[in-house]
Amino acid sequence: MSEKFISIAIDGPVAAGKTTQAKLLAKELGFLYVDTGAMYRTIAVFMTWFPTLAPSMEKVLAGINMKLKRGQDGEQRMFLGTEDVTDQLRTPKISKLASNISALPCVRDFLLGMQRKAAEENDVVMEGRDIGTVILPDATVKIFLTADADMRAFRRWRELKQKGQTENFYNVMEDLKARDYNDSHREVAPLKQAEDAILLDCTELSSRETTQALLEIVRKITDI
Ligand code: C5P
Repeated sequence: MSEKFISIAIDGPVAAGKTTQAKLLAKELGFLYVDTGAMYRTIAVFMTWFPTLAPSMEKVLAGINMKLKRGQDGEQRMFLGTEDVTDQLRTPKISKLASNISALPCVRDFLLGMQRKAAEENDVVMEGRDIGTVILPDATVKIFLTADADMRAFRRWRELKQKGQTENFYNVMEDLKARDYNDSHREVAPLKQAEDAILLDCTELSSRETTQALLEIVRKITDI
């Protein structure tokens, strides 16, 4: 990895607030924000478009034309061909499928290059499950962001509700537990805290307080 750029890796379980916080932190620092979960989710959307390819992941990966672009506000937008699929990524069905395919080594290998390249060419805040452990093992700052499962499920339930997706809280909790289990028990790149990562538990923190805590960690480790 290039020494020229600063990389901040944020890993953690489902709905710990990684996406929101990575975006806010990147904005505050003027860094590029990279949501790696969105890449897994985009592959999942492609599979729902072409269900006949789905049984062969090799065919899926050979056929997919996935691009990451930036909106005017620096927002990460995911494209399949010319179609912007960003607003289709965060449904319970796509979450489940993304979690399932993320256990496959060919899928992880397929995305690894794209993820590392972003950090070789930019100062980044990159969030996911294996950023500090596998993708950017030399990241300048590594943070493991977590919160109690009840609080994470509540926040995810509220987020879905705000988007008009009426999910029962019990289902949200079950989905969260299943995905956490899959992510932390798979053989390749399981979710775990890197040895040199700093743990931040945001159960009791507001979004604003969490951003402040993250900024403090970054400023302690770097001179920005
Ligand atoms: O972070 P998000 O919930 O959007 O990620 C969707 C799924 O993609 C996760 O449940 C996880 O299984 C997978 N993922 C992963 N490694 C990453 C990012 C996401 O395995 N770096």
